[in-house]
Amino acid sequence: AKQTQRGQLGVYTRQMGLEIQSRVKMLQDLRLSFEHQRLYLHYQPQVSLPDGKPVGCEALIRWRDDQGRYIPPDVFIPLAERSGIIATIGEWVMRTAFSQAHLLHRSGFTRLRMAVNVSVIQFRSGGFLETLDRALLDSGVNPELIELEITESVAMLEADYLLDMLKQIKSRGVQVAIDDFGTGFSSLSYLQRLSIDRLKIDRAFVDQLCESQDSRSIAEMVIELSHSLNLQVIAEGVEEQQQAERLAELGCHEAQGYFYAKPMEADALLRWLMNQEP
Ligand code: C2E
Ligand code: CA
Ligand code: CA
Ligand code: CA
Repeated sequence: AKQTQRGQLGVYTRQMGLEIQSRVKMLQDLRLSFEHQRLYLHYQPQVSLPDGKPVGCEALIRWRDDQGRYIPPDVFIPLAERSGIIATIGEWVMRTAFSQAHLLHRSGFTRLRMAVNVSVIQFRSGGFLETLDRALLDSGVNPELIELEITESVAMLEADYLLDMLKQIKSRGVQVAIDDFGTGFSSLSYLQRLSIDRLKIDRAFVDQLCESQDSRSIAEMVIELSHSLNLQVIAEGVEEQQQAERLAELGCHEAQGYFYAKPMEADALLRWLMNQEP
């Protein structure tokens, strides 16, 4: 039995070694891809409920490695966060998305919001505000058209720091949404003190909205919370008309999801927007 155990341990550590190796490899690939400008953004429309009119879009990062394999952000963003390269990538995301927002503005979509995901690691790093300011200035975009999406895990930050950062961001006119709301453990008990504009209901709850009473309860809770705190609320991952109707009934202001449009390249977004009723 002892031998088997040792044998298993041997295999286990070798596997772990491999995992670490492949993570290091992936990180190297990511660095290289970034330098070679092989990262790009897709944009997914956000619409108002119940009329389905475009109100904004969310920038979502994409990576195809040098062998043409698509690697989802859920896989490489956590890696980038652990390695510190997230600051560099995050800055590039902001600059690219802000420029795109400005371009859309000049194409006549003067009220269209651009939402950008910001990692908590990036958000808590010194120099975030300077980076934000530079990106705003260089792109020429109206800051009021920009929204930063920060996940509920910001709750792990020190309250004073978080309050101050959000105030600073607000003072630039930039909007803030709390992403994946309802998935965290905290649900930010001091939400009413935060300078935020919008809560975003995670797609996990939208997915089961019409089937599961639990999901429905959470969606309801987030919408009611938004109403009572005078915040806007948006639901992501809307794939069916029934979900959109249910959300609208519950008083959800906006929606995003495959039912309306998938994330797409900038020029496809422009075409999509031009095909919508004014
Ligand atoms: P998220 O911010 O919660 O983004 C929503 C995810 O749901 C996106 O996945 C989007 O493509 C997907 N989605 C949208 N509508 C639907 C739908 O109707 N059905 C389904 N099944 N999925 C839908 P994606 O693009 O793979 O991004 C995954 C996560 O990676 C994001 O979750 C976000 O946390 C992170 N991420 C993406 N881009 C960035 C970025 O530029 N910076 C940072 N820090 N994180 C990013
Ligand atoms: Ca998001
Ligand atoms: Ca997320
Ligand atoms: Ca989400």
